[in-house]
Amino acid sequence: MPEVKTAEFPRLSRQSLADPQVQSSLRRLSHFIEAREAAVAEVGEQEWQRLRDQGRRIKEHAIAHLDYYLELAADNVVKAGGNVCFARDAREACDYVLKVAQARRARTVIKSKSMVSEETGINTVLESHGIRPVETDLGEYIIQLAGETPFHIVAPALHKSKEEVADLFVQKLNVQRKESITELTAIARAALREIFVQADIGMTGANFVVAETGTVVIVTNEGNGRMSTSLPRVHIALMGMERVVPRLEDMAVFLRLLPRSATGQRLTSYTTFVTGPRRDDEEDGPDEFHLVILDNGRSRMLADEALREALYCIRCGAWVYGGPIGAVVTPILAGLPQARHLPFASTLCGACREVCPVKINIPHLLLTLRSRVTQGPPADRHASWLERIAARAWQYVVTTPWAFGLAGRAAAILQLPLLRRGRLRWLPQPLNAWTRTRDFPRVAFRPFRARWSRIADQHPREKT
Ligand code: SF4
Repeated sequence: MPEVKTAEFPRLSRQSLADPQVQSSLRRLSHFIEAREAAVAEVGEQEWQRLRDQGRRIKEHAIAHLDYYLELAADNVVKAGGNVCFARDAREACDYVLKVAQARRARTVIKSKSMVSEETGINTVLESHGIRPVETDLGEYIIQLAGETPFHIVAPALHKSKEEVADLFVQKLNVQRKESITELTAIARAALREIFVQADIGMTGANFVVAETGTVVIVTNEGNGRMSTSLPRVHIALMGMERVVPRLEDMAVFLRLLPRSATGQRLTSYTTFVTGPRRDDEEDGPDEFHLVILDNGRSRMLADEALREALYCIRCGAWVYGGPIGAVVTPILAGLPQARHLPFASTLCGACREVCPVKINIPHLLLTLRSRVTQGPPADRHASWLERIAARAWQYVVTTPWAFGLAGRAAAILQLPLLRRGRLRWLPQPLNAWTRTRDFPRVAFRPFRARWSRIADQHPREKT
């Protein structure tokens, strides 16, 4: 797995939040939210909730019987003429792909968007052996040319302006500068067409794998998934082991949930079903098909009852800023010490749970991880020693009535020089982290308990 650099996460996230380009890109994303709401409204609230419940039940069942469905899927892939590799970790997955590529003397591998390929770091491995991996999803292609990692599951190059992309194409593709999105897309399309024709291997992810038929289902909007699975002579599909679903008819549920949640579409432009390599009576398709089923820490997640639910995720990215489920999954896959900052990067407002098509309780999972971080060894903890002392002191005050009363009276007096128009609009360090972006209601001079006793004394009947 590529290095998880969450030690730098607090600094980098502050930097990103202060970046006007990122802010304006995120604002433009509101059209995704509106499209999603319209797509859901079209289905109707009742039917949408029914679909979400059904999707969740299917995932619950598949994950509870994962060993059975994975075996069934693997058997059916082999029956259809394909090959299967169960990879325990990223290294085993990369070794297998490399072995296939070297045996076919491959020089170019075209790829359609795959989060598992990001997870395994397969591009770096192929490059180090002289094999050229080329991303063919437009956003991923831009990110690859820029030497960066995807910004978002659904929209990987969301943070780049068209001017930045224009500069990038001039620099990397040696073309004339164009600034319209149509022209930039045409440049990428022309460059990629050449590569599609020459490619030796097509590598894709798998949105779902149907156990009863051994079918890989790939959902894309640019058609690059279909080109990657039909033009090269070899197709390798990479899947996380949680992607298996029992039956073909389950697709009737997920193909309604996924596009609506991800991009607000009724259906994505291309939905591709691949079952093994090309048969004798078929015109298109590869001669060889390989399915790599990746564990890489998912068994740990499966064994952990408190966090197992994260495996229900269908990677819709409905939560625009892509992070909540990543903040759950990454610490489990990469290890809590490496990713200890991530579970804290959420306000726990619950918006992600509200939109999740399979109703994953993400805030609860984040809280579980937070509690594990705080109970872990001191070096792994997120909070500084000062924050921990403050939390202990706070715990004592709020659980000790006399201390709570005294603190309330002291705060009511100490706040006086800081009050502006009845609210606390500025607090000294370190509390100014709060007031930099919001204010705070003033502390009441007469605490609620004192007021309540008075009311109760005045209305003794209501008291009983
Ligand atoms: S957790 Fe739910 S909302 Fe988030 S990406 Fe996964 S399926 Fe979508």
